[in-house]
Amino acid sequence: MRVLIVGAGFGGVAAAIELRRHGIDDVTILEKAPDFGGTWFYNSYPGCACDVPSQLYSFSFAQRRDWSRLCSPQEEILDYLHGVARSLGIDRLIKTNTRVTGCRWEDAACRWSVTTEAGDVHEADAIIIATGQLHQPSIPAIPGAERFAGHSFHSARWDHDYDLTDKRVAVVGTGASAVQFVPEVAERADELTVFQRTGNWFLPRQNRRYRPRVKALIEHVPGVQAYRRWFMFEYCEALTLAIRHPRTFGHLLHLRSALFMRSQLRDPELRRRVWPDYTFGCKRVLFSSTFLATLGQPNVELVTERIEQMTPEGILTADGRRHDVDCVIWGTGFKTMDFMFPLEIIGAQGRDLRQTWAHGAHAHLGMTVPGFPSMFVMYGPNTNTSGGSIIFYEEAQAAYIRQALQHLKQRGGGALEVRPEVEAATDRELQARFAGTAWTRCDSWYRDTTGRIVTNWPGFMRDYLERTREFAPGDFRFTPKPAPVAV
Ligand code: NAP
Repeated sequence: MRVLIVGAGFGGVAAAIELRRHGIDDVTILEKAPDFGGTWFYNSYPGCACDVPSQLYSFSFAQRRDWSRLCSPQEEILDYLHGVARSLGIDRLIKTNTRVTGCRWEDAACRWSVTTEAGDVHEADAIIIATGQLHQPSIPAIPGAERFAGHSFHSARWDHDYDLTDKRVAVVGTGASAVQFVPEVAERADELTVFQRTGNWFLPRQNRRYRPRVKALIEHVPGVQAYRRWFMFEYCEALTLAIRHPRTFGHLLHLRSALFMRSQLRDPELRRRVWPDYTFGCKRVLFSSTFLATLGQPNVELVTERIEQMTPEGILTADGRRHDVDCVIWGTGFKTMDFMFPLEIIGAQGRDLRQTWAHGAHAHLGMTVPGFPSMFVMYGPNTNTSGGSIIFYEEAQAAYIRQALQHLKQRGGGALEVRPEVEAATDRELQARFAGTAWTRCDSWYRDTTGRIVTNWPGFMRDYLERTREFAPGDFRFTPKPAPVAV
């Protein structure tokens, strides 16, 4: 059985490890970047770190005890992923600088044909699309953008050759990425203007290096690491509880957040402009103990007026004010509705995945789509976590996919495809679980234009782990391998 994985981030690497461990050895990972690491390769902005504690944001089978701090910086996470992949020989399966442009199911041959930008064609019995949800930078189409004469770049494509020292810098966006790099940019830039469209709810994040005694405790005392992982898992589940029950548990965390924000924002006018006007947890809650304080620095200005257009000198806001800058940094997030597109995926009988998902992406447990035999998606629709660690979901998906492929192998090969009625039922059930939750109470990148929540899992991490623990063959249709043609 030949398996081809698209994307060598945490998801793709997790899938390859799981398959190889269980005797599915013919695995290749195609990766468009010059190195593997996915998110952690592309996002290298100053201050980049994961706000999920490393004890959780790491593989269960490769627990490290020597993290430098609670929430590790980008280089440490990338180094961890590289280390795990190398130690298990996964790096040798990865073909970097290889952009996949199309995957086509060949009905007669019962195989996938995968084409790369260079024109190579790879055949595979199964494909795993592990390109992630937060992958393609989104830069808003602001009128006049092409006229801007200064420098600009997106946070996920940071231009490290551009020196921000003594420059007038604009940052557009105040999401999870911006709150990490804005304090760093403020230290270098002469003037920093931060453009906020919507305020956010904040919780504190102290992330100093572990003191030697604490580090030694975690490293050398048996059980401490495991206890911390368990504790953080439960803490993250509590965040989901708050989002699922906005009037009760959500209200408690809302109060915690409001107290913290008040303590950080002493200036009433600044506080008024930063304050969010939607239910706690509807958008991603941000963890930072430095961002709000940075907004009060003398060289930093927060602008909340709508951006109307760009001029050769900078940004013009709806109040008629010109903000002349040398550089614009887009902290404007990702095209979250696009998933793996523009990659072209053609399934059985010429069915195009783009058309299938024209009214919003959906997949059985986020992984399988009717009409797309032996295709699996990792970190697909409705599998994003709002409180926890995506690594748990990806490990669960890898194990589920491995079980599916083992089952197929036992049946002598061919293809498997989720039954449409099964996928439709899980999707209905899943969507119904959003009712009454904080996620439905504002617009966010979790929702498509119709308001349907497309990216997030509606429950707890443990629900997802439970739902995916055992592959259910009855949910799938199996097509036997075509008989060899007599010559
Ligand atoms: P994001 O959360 O989507 O934030 C984008 C920001 O840009 C928002 O403030 C948004 O405002 C603003 N924006 C978008 N279009 C705009 C426009 N036309 N005009 C003005 N403002 C505009 O993107 P991100 O910060 O890159 O983070 C994306 C996701 O990556 C996060 O939600 C998180 O899941 C993940 N992430 C995780 C970590 C971590 O530590 N684990 C760190 C960074 C990122 P609105 O709020 O009004 O839309």
